[in-house]
Amino acid sequence: MKIICVGRNYADHARELNNEVPTEPVIFLKPDSAILKDGKAFYLPDHLGGVHHELEVVLRVCKNGKHISPKFASDYYDQLGLGIDFTARDLQTKLKNKGLPWELAKGFDGSAVLGDFVPKSQLGDLAQLQLELLVNGEKRQEGNTRDLLFSFEAIIAFVSQYFTLRQGDLIYTGTPAGVGPVQAGDKLEGFLNGQKMLAFEVK
Ligand code: MG
Repeated sequence: MKIICVGRNYADHARELNNEVPTEPVIFLKPDSAILKDGKAFYLPDHLGGVHHELEVVLRVCKNGKHISPKFASDYYDQLGLGIDFTARDLQTKLKNKGLPWELAKGFDGSAVLGDFVPKSQLGDLAQLQLELLVNGEKRQEGNTRDLLFSFEAIIAFVSQYFTLRQGDLIYTGTPAGVGPVQAGDKLEGFLNGQKMLAFEVK
């Protein structure tokens, strides 16, 4: 399986990092070894510099497809959850400034945190999902999928022009504003429409 991620998919987050608001999706991949799930602790990779949390809605792909039209794209994911796209921000900035790929800053072990998934039919309007991240009980990130620059369907249609989607692939759909560094001892909790979907500790 593969992990597909969308960068800069909320304008307020693109701006907070002084990036242009994109006119087509910004896509990168993480290896499957990046996955951290079942509430396991995230161990800070000290050699990578500062690591930022990015709370994101994650889609689980439920059937294979390529060149998927936006009209049918919603048939290709059946479950949603929350995840953290951990980012070694200092390293990413260095790579970006040199015009180099981001993978080392985005694909390290534990960088793709996954919480629980729920069937999309249980979530109501997927274009109005509220997501929130608490760190040590304090709200750090808050967003709503109404502010996505590229909808779930637009992402699937776009990505599937380049990569065949396979059942079990994951799509991290981008983070709203409020990203920031994590430290050892932090407790992270993610909420989707008020329901806790994600909880783990940083060590
Ligand atoms: Mg991200």
